[in-house]
Amino acid sequence: MHTLRARTLSFDHETGTPVHHEKGAVVVDTDGKIAWAGSAEDLPDNFSSLPGYDYGKKLLMPGFVDPHLHFPQYRMLAVYGKDLLDWLNRYTFVEEQRYGDSRVSEIAARLFLDELIRNGTTACMAFSTVHPEALEALFSEAVRRKMAVISGLTLMDRNAPEALRNDLATIHETSIDLIEKYHGKERLGYAISPRFAITASEALLEVCQSLATRFPGLPIQTHLSENLAEIALTEKLFPWARDYLAVYERYDLVRSNSLFAHGIHLSESESRRLASSDAAIVHCPTSNNFLGSGLFPWLKRSTSDHPIRIGLGSDIGGGTSYSMLATMRDAYVVSQLVGKRIDPSALFRTATRENAELIGRLDRIGSLEAGKFADMILLDPQATPLMAERSFLSESLEDLLFALIILGDDRAVAETFIAGQPVKTALQ
Ligand SMILES: [Zn+2]
Repeated sequence: MHTLRARTLSFDHETGTPVHHEKGAVVVDTDGKIAWAGSAEDLPDNFSSLPGYDYGKKLLMPGFVDPHLHFPQYRMLAVYGKDLLDWLNRYTFVEEQRYGDSRVSEIAARLFLDELIRNGTTACMAFSTVHPEALEALFSEAVRRKMAVISGLTLMDRNAPEALRNDLATIHETSIDLIEKYHGKERLGYAISPRFAITASEALLEVCQSLATRFPGLPIQTHLSENLAEIALTEKLFPWARDYLAVYERYDLVRSNSLFAHGIHLSESESRRLASSDAAIVHCPTSNNFLGSGLFPWLKRSTSDHPIRIGLGSDIGGGTSYSMLATMRDAYVVSQLVGKRIDPSALFRTATRENAELIGRLDRIGSLEAGKFADMILLDPQATPLMAERSFLSESLEDLLFALIILGDDRAVAETFIAGQPVKTALQ
């Protein structure tokens, strides 16, 4: 066992209220779990003589959780596409075809998880591809690192190249085999993962429905209402549907453990129905800005009479950064542009506690509390010469957090801990 001392910040498991200690301490047990967390002066006697480290004024927090990104797009950032559908067809579908080769997938899985660790993301829910080899490579690498990773076979069978289409005759059975092999193994989870309505036939959506019914505890991840051309094409492909969400509703894919990326252009009716189902939207602002998809009205959706649960994701590689700090920065900028400003504390809470809850893991991660995994990050508010100068102006925690959001990136993550082990400095 050992003790880490630092300034600590977490958001309460039950209430979400900030828990901040100028001089805090976290005791990590030999299983990589938190044995105790609180103010250093309250450290119980039986822990006070443990070996450990004192990180002074650096900020020790729960690790970031990324509830929406794409593993096979790990290197496909910054490609010059016009908009979502153009970007998918010209770049994404080409790159994803490489993942039928397990050597490609194995190398990609290492680099993908390295980059998450470098940026302080300790758990994620990620899309993979249609290839079982790719999913198995990602899961194997996550197990090797003891990381909490949720993913699933990407389901698609039309409006995509032949090599990226599931075989309808076998996909149901293949999915069940993978679910039984991986869901709940070590820290892995399986998510039912139809890419989006446009790339799914009604027969494939029936397969999703069957899987969702058979495995009610499995999360469902997909995309919704990201781009106006995407919405128009969806309405054309499903003429019986009253709107985009109705396609997923028809196949029982809208439920409390469903995560819909984007949801930018929702109608009021769709917003109300999402809220009543308790499904969540994952706001991915760097991706929305990069692809020119639109401005997501976060606070309008989360504080209306019908509030929707909202998470914050990088959406790599439509997103432009693995950094959740950079993701928070774009979320803040978007909130300014839509006229309802979000505060720094809410952004940090979303990137840790709320995202952990969305991916169904709040019982194990997302806050610094006894019994949870010691998945943590150490943030350095003085990581660069400019940040050091800026930090001298900070007189409150809220201001310190805001400067980290606006000026920070992977350089501000001094260390990443997975199950108590320092893994970022070990990469270098
Ligand atoms: Zn996405």
